This record gives sequence, structure tokens and C-alpha cells, in this order.
Amino acid sequence: MTEQNHVTVIGAGIVGVCCALYLQRAGFRVTILDERPPAEGCSFGNAGILSPSACVPIAEPGMLWKVPRYLADPLGPLAIRPGYFLQALPWFLRFLREGRPARIRRNSRAMAALYAGCFDAYAPLLKEAGAEDLIRRSGALLVSKEKGKGEVGGELANALRAAAGIKAEPLGRDELRQLDPALSPEFKGGILFPDIGHSVNSFRLARTLAERVVRNGGTILRRRVTGFAFGANGPSALRTAEGEVPIGALVIAAGAWSRGLAAQLGTELPLEAERGYHVMLPDPGVAPRLPVSYSGRGFYATPMENGLRFAGTAEFAGIDAPPDDRRAKALLRLGKDMYPALNTAGVTEWMGCRPSFPDSLPVIDRSPHFPAVHFAFGHSHWGLMGAAVTGKLIAELVAGKPSSIDLAPYRATRF
Ligand SMILES: Cc1cc2nc3c(=O)[nH]c(=O)nc-3n(C[C@H](O)[C@H](O)[C@H](O)COP(=O)(O)OP(=O)(O)OC[C@H]3O[C@@H](n4cnc5c(N)ncnc54)[C@H](O)[C@@H]3O)c2cc1C
Repeated sequence: MTEQNHVTVIGAGIVGVCCALYLQRAGFRVTILDERPPAEGCSFGNAGILSPSACVPIAEPGMLWKVPRYLADPLGPLAIRPGYFLQALPWFLRFLREGRPARIRRNSRAMAALYAGCFDAYAPLLKEAGAEDLIRRSGALLVSKEKGKGEVGGELANALRAAAGIKAEPLGRDELRQLDPALSPEFKGGILFPDIGHSVNSFRLARTLAERVVRNGGTILRRRVTGFAFGANGPSALRTAEGEVPIGALVIAAGAWSRGLAAQLGTELPLEAERGYHVMLPDPGVAPRLPVSYSGRGFYATPMENGLRFAGTAEFAGIDAPPDDRRAKALLRLGKDMYPALNTAGVTEWMGCRPSFPDSLPVIDRSPHFPAVHFAFGHSHWGLMGAAVTGKLIAELVAGKPSSIDLAPYRATRF
């Protein structure tokens, strides 16, 4: 038996941890289960970007024609392992459908509604945990070698940002050099997004917040959930190798692994592991003050407290396939291209699985079958920035309170 005000969360990534903290703030007791220590999944190594102006979905018109070009380029932003192509095909077909203009506009509005409040939602959690230094309102750059001042950014992306009222300052070569003197002079145009911020250590951020969950009286159990035991009203316990863990209200926040758990509860969802890579340089020899994204290459260079991180790109190879270190090496080559003086000594590599839906939106919802089960996953490229907002929304759902934003775009039944 569990108490009425107890909630179990599966997953101690940034999303699960923020759900736990907001549930505690709403007066619930919380237990998190994770097979690994907190923040060792996708939340470990992301690019650290928090953008209240995130409103550009990944699917765009004409994607079908761009994909072959991306795949042919070993330094390109996308890779699909040949043996995985057929398995990924249904997801890609849905993804291509999301590239229609009306869908893009709809998905963009839903992204803007979710991420606009990202800093505000983190603020009380950071204050409580004494972790305010881990997020900086630095601004961020998008830079291009091919396009000059006023031309960078893509017509559609710029139109979506303009529709969402996002601040963007076009920059020329000299202005780029003033903001980031170590950047190669070959970059001739860019955009400054003054409202974007970044975490100086996304792993330490998630870990610090997880520690706060425990200090608030929560429990984090190192267990892998393998399935569910069912009672009269739905799942009554989690199955683990160490035995059953009884549950009342449940939040599934298991990132890319949530698909299998939701399926065991009768909800099949098109969630894919969109694998990304990072290389971390502990002593980079260059010191950008703000994150810089290389236009068309799908990654960010983010200054962090423990070095300079190049993180991004997408690979479809299945959730369990070993990393392909050529993807990380490609990031390093592109990093050198951005910063010719880059010191690559001591480089470390990492791969993580983004939980991605074809429409670039997460699922934040009750299970369609079991009202005590809640879904909080699928944040794709935006899980760090979306975690605290999601935590707040999940706490409202569990408490049966009105939601602070309309949850219709994030329903599990939309697929
Ligand atoms: C290269 C790269 C760059 C990125 N850059 C950014 C960025 O700049 N900004 C941004 O906002 N987002 C970014 N992201 C995305 C972001 O990192 C993810 O969206 C986010 O970390 C997802 O968090 P999560 O808590 O849902 O998943 P995870 O961090 O993966 O956590 C899920 C947890 O569930 C646990 N789990 C899974 N199955 C089970 C089970 N059966 N039993 C028990 N535990 C289980 C796992 O062990 C894991 O700890 C990036 C991602 C990558 C790969």
C-alpha cells in the first residue's frame, strides 16, 4: 500500500528530477527509481542551452531532398546506420509529414508556449538548491561561413522567430570577431540571440537538483524497472530485479527508454532515440564567452566550467547500439574549423540518446488508460530547457489543478 500523497517517478534525468522537485513543492512525497546514478543518461552531456525563444521544430519543408545530402557528408548533422534504416522508417515518414507548413506553424507555437517560461520555472528550484550559478543568461550566437549579415538563419526559421516575437540581432564579420575574437575570420555573418542562456555544467545542475530532492525528504532508489504488476485500478507496483515496489501515482520520465514502459501500459508512441555526441576539451586554449552554433552543422560550442564542449548532431542507430566515435571526431574537426587555435589535448567523447517524437514536442499528459500514471518524456533537443516547466506542469496534473498552459499539443493521443 502507498500513501495518497506519495508519487513514484521513473527516471532521474533532468526531467524526472525537476518533476520530483515540483511535486515536493506541491506537498507530495517522492521516490525516484533509476537504474543508474542521477543524470547519467541523456542529461549528462547536452550542449547546456536554455532558450526561452526555442520555437523552430526540426522537421522543415523539403526535408526529403536535404536528407540524402546530409547523409552523404561525413561531417553532416545527420547519420542513419544502414542496418537501422528500416526500423527508423515509420518514424521518418511521420517526421516528413510534420514538415508541412501548417504543422510547422502549429508545432512552433506549442514549442514557444512550453519553452518561453524556462528560466522562470528553473528559478525557484535553483534558488532552493543554491545552484543559481549553474545557469547564465549569456546570449548565444548562430554563425555562418556562407552567409553574411542579414542573410543567416534560414527563411522559415527566421519567420517563425519573428512570429514568436524573438529578439535576434544580425551581425557581420567584424561584430562576430568583437563578440568572439577566437572565432575563425572565415565566418562572415551571424545572429545574436540575447535571450538565450546556458548551463555551465548540465550534469552538475541535474545532480545538484537530485541531491535537493533527497534533502527535501525524497528517496532515490538505484533500480531498473522491468515491468508492472496490476491491481483493480491499473499498475499497482513496479517490477524490478530486487522485487516489487508498490506505487500509487506514477510519473514516467525515463527519457528515450520511456517508449517501452508506456507500451507495457498499453500506449504505443513513436518515440525514437535520436543519438547525439559531444567532445569536451578541458583546456581549449580559446575562451568564447557565449555559446556559438555553427549554422547547418547542428551543434553548439558551449563554454562550460570544466572546458569547452562541442555537442549536437543526430544519429539514428537504435537505443542500444554502441557509439560511433567517427561522429565525435567529426565534431572535433568542425570545432577546429570554428576555432583554429583550439587545443584538443585531453579530449573526452560522449554519446547520449535524445528522446524524440517526430513533431519535436514532448508528451506531458496522463496515460490515456490509467489516470494515476503520468507521462513526462520526449523533449528531444530541448529537454534541459523544458525540464523545469514540465515538472511544474506534471505537479499540476498530479494535484488535479488547472494547468498553467494548455496541454493539448503535448497529449499522448495526438499520434
Ligand atoms: C548532444 C546533445 C546535445 C543536447 N543539447 C541540449 C541543449 O543544449 N539544451 C537542451 O535543452 N537539451 C539538449 N539536449 C537534449 C537533452 O539532453 C534531453 O532532452 C534531456 O536530457 C532528456 O532528459 P530526460 O530526463 O528525459 O532523459 P535522461 O536524461 O535520458 O534520463 C532518463 C533516465 O531514465 C533512466 N531509465 C530509463 N529506463 C529506466 C528503467 N526501465 N528503470 C529505471 N530507470 C530507467 C535512465 O537511466 C536515465 O537516467 C541535448 C541532447 C544531446 C544528446
